[in-house]
Amino acid sequence: MSPPVMPESDIISPYSLPNPHRVLGVAGLFVVFLLLGLASYRVSENYGVENMRQAASHQLDILGAAIDSEVTRHASVPSAVELNPDVVTLLRAPSEEADIRQAEANRFLQKLNDHLGGPAIFVLDLSGRVVASSDWIFSDNLLGSDLSYMPFFRDAVRGTPARHYAVDHIRHEPGYYFALPIRDESREWAIIGVAVVKSGIREVERRWLAQEAPALIVDRNDVVLLASPPEWRYATLGRQPTAVLERLGRQQFAGQALGAISLDIDLAGADEGRVVRLPKHLRDDVAPAQGARPYLAMARNLPGTAWRIVVFSDLRAVGVQAATHAALSVAALGCLLLGVLYARQRRRLARGREEARAMLELANQELERKVEARTVDLSEAVSGLQREVQERQRAEQTLRAAQNELVQAAKLAVLGQMATGITHELSQPLGAIRTLSANAAEFMRRGEAATAERNLAIVEQLTEQMGNIIGPLKTFARKSPAVSSAVDIGQAVDSALFLFESRLKKDAVIVERHFTPGATTAWCDRNRLQQVLVNLVGNALDAMHDEPVRRLSFSSEASSTGKIALSVVDSGHGFSEEAVAHLFEPFFTTKQPGEGLGLGLTISRDILRDFGGDLMAGPAPGGGARFVVLLPPLSSGSA
Ligand code: ADP
Repeated sequence: MSPPVMPESDIISPYSLPNPHRVLGVAGLFVVFLLLGLASYRVSENYGVENMRQAASHQLDILGAAIDSEVTRHASVPSAVELNPDVVTLLRAPSEEADIRQAEANRFLQKLNDHLGGPAIFVLDLSGRVVASSDWIFSDNLLGSDLSYMPFFRDAVRGTPARHYAVDHIRHEPGYYFALPIRDESREWAIIGVAVVKSGIREVERRWLAQEAPALIVDRNDVVLLASPPEWRYATLGRQPTAVLERLGRQQFAGQALGAISLDIDLAGADEGRVVRLPKHLRDDVAPAQGARPYLAMARNLPGTAWRIVVFSDLRAVGVQAATHAALSVAALGCLLLGVLYARQRRRLARGREEARAMLELANQELERKVEARTVDLSEAVSGLQREVQERQRAEQTLRAAQNELVQAAKLAVLGQMATGITHELSQPLGAIRTLSANAAEFMRRGEAATAERNLAIVEQLTEQMGNIIGPLKTFARKSPAVSSAVDIGQAVDSALFLFESRLKKDAVIVERHFTPGATTAWCDRNRLQQVLVNLVGNALDAMHDEPVRRLSFSSEASSTGKIALSVVDSGHGFSEEAVAHLFEPFFTTKQPGEGLGLGLTISRDILRDFGGDLMAGPAPGGGARFVVLLPPLSSGSA
């Protein structure tokens, strides 16, 4: 079964290139953010401007109320002046009592003025001269001044109550003038003079200069009467003809130059609030940093006067607030989007986890199934192996038995080869025994017991001699299991040589022995080692049979591997090339049929390897053969 695969759409690669859909999505999102930001900015700006408008309106209310209480509260005073008989008498006709009347009128006006708390009150005759004044006690009083040039006088003398701002010539004090014609009841209400009250505007001025943002009071001619900043006083809202300005300056402002500054502000529609910017040349008048800002200009006509009050509100705070709101709404949308994305991601992760869990479960089930199948396979394999091991053990037992039989067969073969020699060895003493025992019987019949006894003694010696020949053969031929023990190498060599004693003598073989001390005792099976040596000696004797010099030497030494190396060197014909290649192969022999089976060397090597030794062959220096028998040292048995 193939492993479950994640759907491709769920794989999020941080290196994946943006596809067109994604780009469009991002662009769309950007546009949405932009639109939202703009909309928020607009709404917040409108809201802020509306708030500012209300605040400005409130400010205008307060300023208006303040001006009203300062300036217009004296509007009714001229009516009171008209009612005073001294004033009327003074104006009716200059008489000899004029001085008295004037003094009375002055006192009345002073009293009224004191009572009202500060405005200047005075009376003009029809020529515009001040005939009575509340400030008569001061040296710089208005008495006698000609105010006929004042617009309020001209209006009032024509029968129209007048009111306006003006600056007087004497003290150069600005003020608001209310003028009323004084009529003579006895002359059919003919106008005989003008009553004037002048309100000081110091308090209004003080209040005005305290304004932080620009604020103006403008008269009906668009001349600025009061301003914050104060430099704008006597400026004009727009540019006006010089002649008009000069006339106004003369009549109303005691010769003050007007319109030196033009504010270039259009207040049309400013009653509802209008956004304006100050012209460049005026920006330094307010704090330089504020000059370039947009302002909300709001104007209001002051009831009871010909004034307009204008206040300017800094719109920067609105802009900042609108920008903040736009940023906040964009951030909120961003948070909302992030929240949605987060929720989606969570859902996706949860789904992924669920799928992973399901896949894991499937994989587990698959694994369990495989393990189960593999366990069955393994147990079958194990039982198969067990069967195989048993079979191998049986085969090994059979092999070992066959090997033992083979060893035994080889021994018997050697014995068979030696049979002729042995028979020859035994036949001599046997014949002698036969003759001696016959002679002994004869000597006994003859009564020569002593001679018979001598013969029998020789027979005894001969039988002992025969026993000595047969004894080692019995030992050699015995079928015995291999048991390792300490074996003297010299003795083992002697035992092997003993079996070939007659052949050695017959062939006049020179036997040499050289055993290095420390390499004289091996740990192996004595009988098997003897069998190996018998085999090697037999082969050496066969090889040397036709050689003129027959020398057989044995030497032992410790090899570099720690084993004992016993060399058996003969002076025989040596090995042919073929013999070297196949020496240890079973049934390889160069001997005549009946003389060799070709198993001797094979069995000898197996025997030696069985107890940890080995057998090697090679040419001897003098041309014969050299066999090296490697044997475990004594130390390997005691270890
Ligand atoms: P067999 O003696 O029955 O032939 P072996 O296995 O003992 O069997 O010997 C195999 C062959 O090895 C011999 O036939 C002989 O050709 C060769 N061989 C063994 N020993 C010697 C030796 N000392 N010198 C020369 N050839 C030898």
